[in-house]
Amino acid sequence: MARRDKLPLLENITIERMAAEGKCVVHANGRAVFVPYTAPGDVVDIKVTKARKKFWEGKAITFHQYSPQRTEPFCAHFSICGGCKWQHIPYEQQLVYKRQQVIDQFERIGKIPFPEVAPILPSQNTRYYRNKLEFAFSDQRWFTREEIASGEELDKRALGFHIPGSFEKILPIEHCHLQADPSNDIRMAVDQYAKEQGLPYYNMRQHTGVLRTLMIRTANTGELMVMVQFGRDADNAPEAIDGLLNHLREKFPMITSLQYVINRKMNDTFHDLEVTLFAGQSYITEQMEGLQFRVSAQSFYQTNSEQAYQLYRVTRNFAQLSGEEVVYDLYSGTGTIANFVAAQAKKVIGVEYVETATQDAKVNSQINNVSNTDFFAGDMRDLLNSEFLQQHGRPDVIITDPPRVGMHADVVKQLLEVGAPRIVYVSCNPATQARDIALLHEKYRVDKLQPVDMFPHTHHVENVASLVLR
Ligand code: SAH
Repeated sequence: MARRDKLPLLENITIERMAAEGKCVVHANGRAVFVPYTAPGDVVDIKVTKARKKFWEGKAITFHQYSPQRTEPFCAHFSICGGCKWQHIPYEQQLVYKRQQVIDQFERIGKIPFPEVAPILPSQNTRYYRNKLEFAFSDQRWFTREEIASGEELDKRALGFHIPGSFEKILPIEHCHLQADPSNDIRMAVDQYAKEQGLPYYNMRQHTGVLRTLMIRTANTGELMVMVQFGRDADNAPEAIDGLLNHLREKFPMITSLQYVINRKMNDTFHDLEVTLFAGQSYITEQMEGLQFRVSAQSFYQTNSEQAYQLYRVTRNFAQLSGEEVVYDLYSGTGTIANFVAAQAKKVIGVEYVETATQDAKVNSQINNVSNTDFFAGDMRDLLNSEFLQQHGRPDVIITDPPRVGMHADVVKQLLEVGAPRIVYVSCNPATQARDIALLHEKYRVDKLQPVDMFPHTHHVENVASLVLR
């Protein structure tokens, strides 16, 4: 890689179009250059920041002309916080790009015939649409150039979001437009209390400090979960835990689930740790079409509740159930899709590798009086074999909702062998979805494609594909 100071400055460049990962692309010096935080039509000077073999990455440092397509970003943290990279693009235009992304991936990666992609279903809320946010504490606050230039002595502690590309720098957040009240108030109150009390913020290199992360979950039933993650130093500071959590309990009586975990590991994940209930219940409840879903601190639930409902409705429509079908729900998580379609199927079999998630799925069936579901834990590659099919019946419909990496090639092979009349493929990454569907094309034709927007102001797009056995 070339030294940074040797990398070129590209002057007076007109941004061409929106490319993958939410960045725009231009062609200069015989290369594709990817530039974030720009819009097609902007005229800019680009400082190349990284020279890779086949393309460059750059940063727009001077704007000579703004694209007529732009809109004013609404957040004070825009362009520093890694969160909502598309705020400068009007929402209607974001939707156009997202749908185009699906088309591009099916053309470039899929290379198979596919029907016209349906207009994307927009998000009902474009702000305050997330039901979960996780903030990090750090004693290494991110300072802006102006703050450094001011020469003032500044507090280095921060509670907020990670700066993209830096593992320890945290941007303190004043107001986040992603989660409804009282999310912002809670975060600010925690930060203020912790500073007043002198509670040590985490140091991500040395793994010292008492306060590590803060998770806030707001359910559509009004229930509210707060979970504080403490570092190993909290072992010697039980009064810090009690003090902070009691302060939260008094100040925010609307919290229905107040929990904490002491994480002595090197990374922030806590799915494998014991979470302690401090006050209230150990879970919150989400509601969807008369169904209740229990969400515990460690379990996954789609982060945009309204759009999860849209997504599942599309999925259920594509499944075309009459009540007679055996349905497999692959990558079933906590069983939301399985329970959502169960009333219209003969039975639903869920497969998921996180054991606790399958337990949650069973509880979700119980509390909703759904008796025709069953859930099994294991890796899809091992579990979905001929023995399993014999035991549980051949599926008439397979619903599959894998993580971003898509399905393992062996799983795709198994699906081809199973030969279910219909497959509904739900994906949060159209690139891997197109790759998998290209393989399934051996036996399946693509019947319908329906993108759904769950994450306004980001480039992320969810896409549901209906596949029919040929
Ligand atoms: N359908 C669910 C969750 C989808 S997220 C919902 O809508 O809520 C994808 C799920 O796939 C996660 O729960 C993850 O634990 C699971 N998973 C990832 N890799 C897997 C594998 N190899 N075998 C089985 N499950 C897997």
